[in-house]
Amino acid sequence: MKVKKKILLLVSLIIILLPFFCYALNIRGEIKERKIPTYLIENNSYISLKSLLKILGAEDSWGRVEDRIFIKHQDVEIKFKINSTQVFLDKKVEYLGVPVKEVEGEVLVPVDDFNNILSGIVASPRVSKEPLKEEKVIAKDKNRSFTILIDPGHGGKDDGAVGYYGLKEKAVNLDIAKRMKEYLNKELRRNPGVKIYMTREDDVDVSLMERVQMAKDIKADVFFSIHTNSSRERRPDADGFETYYSPVKEEVILLPSISNTEKIDEKKEDGSTLSMILDDLNKTTAVDESRILADFVQERLAERLLTPDRGTKRRGFYVLRYTPMPAVLSEIGFICNPNVEWNLKDAEVRQAIAEALAKGLLDYLKFRDVI
Ligand SMILES: [Zn+2]
Repeated sequence: MKVKKKILLLVSLIIILLPFFCYALNIRGEIKERKIPTYLIENNSYISLKSLLKILGAEDSWGRVEDRIFIKHQDVEIKFKINSTQVFLDKKVEYLGVPVKEVEGEVLVPVDDFNNILSGIVASPRVSKEPLKEEKVIAKDKNRSFTILIDPGHGGKDDGAVGYYGLKEKAVNLDIAKRMKEYLNKELRRNPGVKIYMTREDDVDVSLMERVQMAKDIKADVFFSIHTNSSRERRPDADGFETYYSPVKEEVILLPSISNTEKIDEKKEDGSTLSMILDDLNKTTAVDESRILADFVQERLAERLLTPDRGTKRRGFYVLRYTPMPAVLSEIGFICNPNVEWNLKDAEVRQAIAEALAKGLLDYLKFRDVI
């Protein structure tokens, strides 16, 4: 009886207090209240993107890459395209009744459809007025210095995965990384502030610790690791590409002992790792930024590759977890699949993959106003 009463009290408290903490977003209501101009196109009411950003309190947390618009609203990433009816809320797809339009340089979004889609997002006006955390760290001045560290996985004694025909992962990773660096240097020739480094330029041993240390030493802004996948049982039908980011960021205090051949995803829990969760702000920022970057990269790979899109995934790979900056790891294909292995021998295929990875990174740099 006592427990029941307590629960009842708690439930009523929540019901009473709920309206003070949050309210559902109501675009129509905001339009009326703030006297926001609307446009009528073919009997549908539209507002400008600028007005939508104002309503969401997202004036400082959005970006545009070509015809794609990205808005970060609290913890939700809203993505849509001009002339498209698809709207992504994080990974979930919603459909508009009429497409987003661009008229004389002004992006226009349909009021009713956005109202319906976004009403599911709980908004708190007090919080949404504050700039997002990452805005404090990632400044928006063009041509500022920005350092990218590309990390071809494995090398030296560590072959990584080896295919049926004997192709070694370490060689594929290095070749793609070199092509990616070359492509980026070409595309970024007008951005002398952006510098690109690699954790290895040859077939040499570099431990995971050294890779992380290098990223810290050169104060990299982005860490980009390239790997080629193999399934546990080396299944010949394993297929697809995926991009990882770590759900947590930690600081290594006493470095764990790891051999070079250790699988990168295995974090030792034997007590030799003494790590500390990075301070809250940095941690959240770097994890969020890694996710955004991973999404861009995965999207570009999907555009170019015919193999299955396995998506953006969260996993605490050593180099992702212990690098303090935004970090991603792309597994560009399964070398244990003889068809994929055969394709990966082809310079053109490697070039296409390298360019897709580079384009994903460039999308991110544009999104963050670095270039
Ligand atoms: Zn690997």
